[in-house]
Amino acid sequence: MITFYPGPSKVYDQVGQYLQEAFESGVISANHRSSAFMQMLEDTIRNLKTKLNVPADYEVYFVSSATECWEIIAECLISDASLHIYNGAFGEKWMEYTQKLTGAARSFSFETNEELVLNVAKMPSVNEIICITHNETSNGTALTSECLNTLRAQFDNIIAVDATSSMAGVELPWLSADVWYGSVQKCFGLPAGMGVMIVSPKAVERAIAIGNRSHYNSLLFIRDNFLKFQTPYTPNTLGIYLMNRVMQQVEAIHVVDALTTARELDWYSFLPKNGYHLLVENEAVRSKTVIAVKDTKERISVIKKAASQEGIVLGNGYGKDKETSFRIANFPAITDMEIQTLKDFLVSFASK
Ligand SMILES: *Cc1c(COP(=O)(O)O)cnc(C)c1O
Repeated sequence: MITFYPGPSKVYDQVGQYLQEAFESGVISANHRSSAFMQMLEDTIRNLKTKLNVPADYEVYFVSSATECWEIIAECLISDASLHIYNGAFGEKWMEYTQKLTGAARSFSFETNEELVLNVAKMPSVNEIICITHNETSNGTALTSECLNTLRAQFDNIIAVDATSSMAGVELPWLSADVWYGSVQKCFGLPAGMGVMIVSPKAVERAIAIGNRSHYNSLLFIRDNFLKFQTPYTPNTLGIYLMNRVMQQVEAIHVVDALTTARELDWYSFLPKNGYHLLVENEAVRSKTVIAVKDTKERISVIKKAASQEGIVLGNGYGKDKETSFRIANFPAITDMEIQTLKDFLVSFASK
């Protein structure tokens, strides 16, 4: 079976071997306060920062999921309010969870095919945190680096970015935001079960000023532990081991980005050429890592079924386009051969 599901998604082929190595190394039986564990955590963070080109003064924490980051941000970084800028289901959910916790989440929503231009009526106030989704997995749109750079230049506010389905797949403009988070089961090509949170010195400063230490996953408590290469709770040791091995294996992010981009351009020309309709018509807002195809409810259901009979899993639609679209993950762990198999299927299906 070949999967193009945009999360959980295909893991790197080498993960099978790494699982065996993890077992043989003994580290997955080690206590998480042992030096063997701490050394591994230190190596993992170093390798991740090197390969993804994360600024030296940004800190990396492993948490349980991207969803957990919604909660950590709401509890530990939002003192006054938050402005949520989104065009799809994940950005909206983030706003909804935050609203439940803080009661002070404001929305600025825009359309799938629209380029983001902040409305003057919705300018953030001084201490408001800007919450934005880099790659909206539900509809296959993304923000450009220029867009994030502009936001950074315009406002002094702390900016938090959901990069769950783009982190480790494309280059990110790290300095243009203060909190970046993602999950391992997307572009990292790893089994589900961990989130990655990357924070700037300015975000750390804000967390210190707020001083919330009331939760087991309070950012400051997580940070105290990570500064010692430990974790506040018993961590996903196997997940960290696999992260380390995959970060050793992968090319530098600019090389990975070039591959993602070449494949993305290829998909966006191949699909319309073969009679498929792209959900995102405006080229300027298309995602590089999640490609959404739209059709009638009936045809989407038939194509997913036909693909499955050929051993190919297409991603279901998500949110409001759930039944009228399918999604193709363009994540680095997918091989050229697998992409060719899907293309062959799509060509043959289109002629039916
Ligand atoms: C997958 C996804 C999430 C949720 O990730 P979890 O690891 O399930 O918490 C959040 N935001 C975006 C944009 C996603 O693609």
